[in-house]
Amino acid sequence: MAKIISGKEISAQIREEVKDEVARITEVTGYTPGLAVIQVGENPASTVYVNSKKRACEQVGIKSFGYHLPEEASQEELLDLVDQLNNDINVHGILCQLPLPDHMDESKVLNAILPEKDVDGFHPYNVGLLSQGKKSLVPCTPAGVLEMLTRTGIDISGKECVIVGRSNIVGKPVAQLMLSKNATVTIAHSRTVDLPAVCRRADILIAAVGRPKLITSDYIKTGATVIDVGINRTEEGKLVGDVDFESVSEVAGHITPVPGGVGPMTIAMLLSNTLEAFKKINGISS
Ligand code: NAD
Repeated sequence: MAKIISGKEISAQIREEVKDEVARITEVTGYTPGLAVIQVGENPASTVYVNSKKRACEQVGIKSFGYHLPEEASQEELLDLVDQLNNDINVHGILCQLPLPDHMDESKVLNAILPEKDVDGFHPYNVGLLSQGKKSLVPCTPAGVLEMLTRTGIDISGKECVIVGRSNIVGKPVAQLMLSKNATVTIAHSRTVDLPAVCRRADILIAAVGRPKLITSDYIKTGATVIDVGINRTEEGKLVGDVDFESVSEVAGHITPVPGGVGPMTIAMLLSNTLEAFKKINGISS
């Protein structure tokens, strides 16, 4: 039976570390890290995410500043707000909750965020640094995947890593991170021929697809580490990942559950990124 990698436990550790560091740094500098969270419209899932991000900030001593624009707000209004936050010395991280309403151009808005305050790591400048293997603000979910592997002591260097999914938010940045740790990286996607055979090469398999239980035990090399990024809701309203946990945990060496796996890591890494941004902006070395 595979050992479970608990994102719940690892993320709690990270939050504690961030909390201690925020307290220390606030005492030394007299300043507190601040995160601005922007929501546009009334998407119920966005409201849940935004509220949990604000709550998580408060729990570790990071100031959160919430901005809620109406669905019909213009792109100019949103860009003006981003500009104001870019220039606000109390704000060290800016997060614009996606998706934005259809009349807005997401990339225009994300590109307007100052790269040093881009705690989601979506700005092309940070994407470029990541692809060059240089220090950057890394997207939170991929950063969380890497933390789970390293804190569990999974060897990455020289290992075969297969990532299923090639999105800009998860698949591609995870691939860059694994490459930076010297894995041999394959990115599989919807056009990949014989996905099970490709996946069976993996010492580390990372699924970021959005298809419930796509990955079954036939896709797994014995003893592999399986990280399930997928979050899918079944017709009965149950949360499941992209990995068929029951069958895969019979074959894998390590596995992440859903819920309680990668999910809680994302917010923990957002807090960590906000702290990193604060330090960088204030010239404090890590
Ligand atoms: P996306 O829809 O942008 O990308 C999905 C990718 O999967 C695409 O690159 C596509 O080529 C690939 N794909 C689709 N069908 C496939 C198939 N049958 N075989 C192989 N590849 C296939 O999704 P995303 O934003 O990368 O998210 C992926 C999953 O991760 C979703 O379930 C999402 O909810 C979840 N997610 C979780 C977190 C978290 O915090 N845990 C964060 C972001 C996304």
